[in-house]
Amino acid sequence: MFFICNGPEKLSLTMVKKLETDILIIGAGLTGLTLGYLLQEAGKKFILVEATNRIGGRIKTVGFETPLPIEMGATWFGSQHQMLKQLMNNLNVASFPQAIGDKAIYEAISTSPPYLASLPPNPDPTMRITGGTMRLIKALAEIIDFSNIRLNTKINQLDFSGLAINAFTEVEEIKAQKVISTIPPHLLYKTIQFNPALSSNIISVLKNTHTWMGESIKIALSYDDPFWRSVGSSGTIFSNVGPIPEMYDHSNYEDDHYALMGFLNGGYHFISKEERLEKILKQLQKYYGAQVKSFISYHEEVWNQNKACFAPYETQVLPHQNNGHELFKNPLYDKRFLIAGTETSSHFPGYMEGAVASAKFAFQFLK
Ligand SMILES: Cc1cc2nc3c(=O)[nH]c(=O)nc-3n(C[C@H](O)[C@H](O)[C@H](O)COP(=O)(O)OP(=O)(O)OC[C@H]3O[C@@H](n4cnc5c(N)ncnc54)[C@H](O)[C@@H]3O)c2cc1C
Repeated sequence: MFFICNGPEKLSLTMVKKLETDILIIGAGLTGLTLGYLLQEAGKKFILVEATNRIGGRIKTVGFETPLPIEMGATWFGSQHQMLKQLMNNLNVASFPQAIGDKAIYEAISTSPPYLASLPPNPDPTMRITGGTMRLIKALAEIIDFSNIRLNTKINQLDFSGLAINAFTEVEEIKAQKVISTIPPHLLYKTIQFNPALSSNIISVLKNTHTWMGESIKIALSYDDPFWRSVGSSGTIFSNVGPIPEMYDHSNYEDDHYALMGFLNGGYHFISKEERLEKILKQLQKYYGAQVKSFISYHEEVWNQNKACFAPYETQVLPHQNNGHELFKNPLYDKRFLIAGTETSSHFPGYMEGAVASAKFAFQFLK
């Protein structure tokens, strides 16, 4: 079978490669990889496909395996995230508490100066993964037989009209008995064609399911010296004025490489990287002076520009809307297809905990 690719400059004929498996998992984020790990341990035959050239999805550690790993995606978890903690224990992935300090810079309104506010003691600290959140992703991927993972493989179409399910990329056709999608439900609706079409009640839920943190902008600056500690603060910033509403010390576990990491108001996605940096430095300069300009590196991730995570909504969708919706519990197309992923979990939807819970739910469905 031949497939015509319409590239921007040329038209070419490409041979469609055919693959066959029992289970096809779409997406190599935390849900897809945890499911792959469970299936691998259970000796099941599966293929895990990932649209981009990297695994991890919304887990993205810049400088992973360097002395200063910096999180552009998922960072924190807590004692209530029991399934995630269990998975980390099984994989020997260690954690350490987020440094918060006992004082934070607080800016209530633009007409009053920022001040140092006392923070209450926290007996149950928020945790970070030692070496970066990608450590967990790497640990999962190391267990999965690498020949089962296919990068740069974006599913465009799912056909349930035959006895087997046919999944199509631009250049491949994958035949499977069961398919698990782990991509954000709204992205599934926007980017994958279904034959026969999904029912209208499912479409209505998918269309209106918020993609967790899809509009967020993460920012980080690294420095030679953690000067924010010497002003009697800890690097923790809470500002109602912005554009950075919250920021934290993001130094490494060993505490010998230093960084600040936080969020930028999501509305700033429309300006350039240089303009964002200028605004960030201006805000930080208010608190710490001109030394903020002596950063070693600046990192940012504007998640609504990441096409493998986010697609614009057609209507107003509120934060967390439809996350954990009841309909996600029901397999579709004669129990051959399940919509999984963190947003579908009824247990901590949106969080890494929700992703692990979703993978476990999908695993039960496949058993
Ligand atoms: C900025 C930010 C901060 C966050 N902070 C935290 C935090 O501190 N704590 C916490 O618990 N959670 C946090 N989260 C949420 C956490 O990242 C997610 O819960 C989790 O990573 C979701 O995993 P997932 O596998 O369900 O989805 P994803 O990570 O979105 O994985 C889906 C995968 O599918 C791939 N894909 C998409 N389309 C296709 C296609 N057509 N074919 C094949 N592959 C496809 C994508 O490339 C991606 O790799 C944060 C998220 C963001 C964005």
